[in-house]
Amino acid sequence: MLLERLETVNAGVRDAAREAGRDPEGITTIVVTKFHPASLVRELYAAGVRDFGENRHQEAQAKAAELRALDLTWHFIGQLQSKKARQVRGYASVIHSLDRPSLVDALASDESTLDCFVQLNLTDDPARGGVQDADLERMTEQVLSTAGLRLLGVMAVAPLDEEPRKAFARVRAASERIRVLAPGAGFISAGMSADYREAILEGATHLRIGSAITGNRPDHG
Ligand SMILES: *Cc1c(COP(=O)(O)O)cnc(C)c1O
Repeated sequence: MLLERLETVNAGVRDAAREAGRDPEGITTIVVTKFHPASLVRELYAAGVRDFGENRHQEAQAKAAELRALDLTWHFIGQLQSKKARQVRGYASVIHSLDRPSLVDALASDESTLDCFVQLNLTDDPARGGVQDADLERMTEQVLSTAGLRLLGVMAVAPLDEEPRKAFARVRAASERIRVLAPGAGFISAGMSADYREAILEGATHLRIGSAITGNRPDHG
């Protein structure tokens, strides 16, 4: 079941890449395992998956500790409190959710380098997380001038009330803007279970896919 779903998504990613005229090797599928036990990560690891995403610090930290013997890349994709930022540096290789200046400051380090994405808010609702379009350049400059952070690009979640393809076209435009300031920061983290095809068509390089691979999340009440 799990491995069938994984193969279905992998095939879907290859199809969408072909449709977009892109090399599927340039697309990283991150399997989002939030609310699922470490045993599920082990099963996916055995099937060759190396990139995993989590959106809550405590859960991510516990899973990363339990699985530290495996060669995994953890992606932190959720909203992050500044006071937990240093702890996330301890296990995550990539943070997708840089969404405010105080978090960037909290992640500064002279000891190691952490890959990161600036999260864009594609809605007008500040609670959704991410920087507003008008703040993108300022945020980019701040990340570039902070020790210990390497900017990979932009991340976004498509709004519920907008056609995903249109939303991802806006993400692509934002990506072009930050590349003016940071030519190496051309990666795009976008696309989830329901909309990864559209994200690939608009240039996504990092997909964050949960339920289409893991199945429904266990009750998290
Ligand atoms: C949960 C989550 C995903 C994956 O969502 P699915 O719809 O299950 O694929 C992707 N990105 C973020 C930020 C998430 O929190």
